[in-house]
Amino acid sequence: MVLAGSGSSKTIFLDRDGVINRKMSEGDYVKCRDEFKFLPGVKEALRMLKEAGHLLIVVTNQRGVARGLMTEDELREIHGYMQQELDEIGASLDGIYYCPHEKGQCNCRKPELGLFLKAKYDFPSICFANSIMIGDSINDMEAGVKIGCKNVLVADTSQNTSIVNKAYNQGIDIEIIIPTLYDILFYLDGDLFL
Ligand SMILES: [Mg+2]
Ligand SMILES: [Zn+2]
Repeated sequence: MVLAGSGSSKTIFLDRDGVINRKMSEGDYVKCRDEFKFLPGVKEALRMLKEAGHLLIVVTNQRGVARGLMTEDELREIHGYMQQELDEIGASLDGIYYCPHEKGQCNCRKPELGLFLKAKYDFPSICFANSIMIGDSINDMEAGVKIGCKNVLVADTSQNTSIVNKAYNQGIDIEIIIPTLYDILFYLDGDLFL
């Protein structure tokens, strides 16, 4: 694996739950820092992406706030912890954007684009066409199509059939499917990053 970022630097939009940290069971949310568990290899992957010069932006739906399962302050504390752990290894995230709202109440809950537009406002150099969306849900992939970037689906073989079928039916392009974020590193020198 060659480390020198070969092509141009890109913006990597990252979903959080199921990509960076372990997802809670359906309907539950990471509500405090003790429930936030990095998935294996994620810190290393983020460190290498960062080292290759890419901008790392988290875009995450956190409806648990709207549902009263956690406060926005608690969510920020979780993000503070995530960032601190990544700071320590030189893998700092450049931005963390979240939607705390209920479905259908805002223009920032993915697949809406509010979080991406906020990021673009804060980092005018972001070029959506030169970005990569990495997520584990159809909402992530749909948002990726809307901004016109490349889509990377994180899914193991037990999950990917249903998401891939949905994506196919909705005409959503998925560039590659990887079982964990770590596996993105095997593509660093390939077409995905051109
Ligand atoms: Mg997710
Ligand atoms: Zn929202």
